Amino acid sequence: MDPFLPPFLRRLAYSFFRAYYNMGDCIFCKIVAGTAKADIVYKDEHVTAFRDIHPVAPTHILIVPNRHIDSVGTLTEADEAIAGRLLLTARKLAEQEGIADKGFRVITNTGPHGGQTVPHLHIHLIGGQHMRHPMG
Ligand code: 5GP
Ligand code: ZN
Repeated sequence: MDPFLPPFLRRLAYSFFRAYYNMGDCIFCKIVAGTAKADIVYKDEHVTAFRDIHPVAPTHILIVPNRHIDSVGTLTEADEAIAGRLLLTARKLAEQEGIADKGFRVITNTGPHGGQTVPHLHIHLIGGQHMRHPMG
């Protein structure tokens, strides 16, 4: 953004910028930034993992990219590394949670038909019990 813009124009431009990228009200961006509370279980420069506020199993962790990406539906070639990092983090956290041996479920809901309610890409890591729910 042009640093020489007058402050009010800079604020205006920034608010358009944030709206355009859907970040202003994104709860997961706020959790990553530390401005919203969450029970964070892992964080590095690329991903953050925290416990789901409404767990459906003894272990229910959400793993998100620190950079806002809407969903799997908007991934590009440039996101290849972060997509892999999300899955690898799921495996590591499954081990950390002691659920790796018996198995676990990894889910990424995408868009309205996929049941996505938070439009910031996230992987659900769910385990600690035998899964009862069917896929659909
Ligand atoms: P989705 O429905 O998009 O696949 O999953 C969104 C998940 O985020 C839900 O399981 C929901 O419980 C969780 N969630 C929504 N808001 C918050 C929040 O503010 N904090 C945490 N920890 N989880 C949230
Ligand atoms: Zn976000």
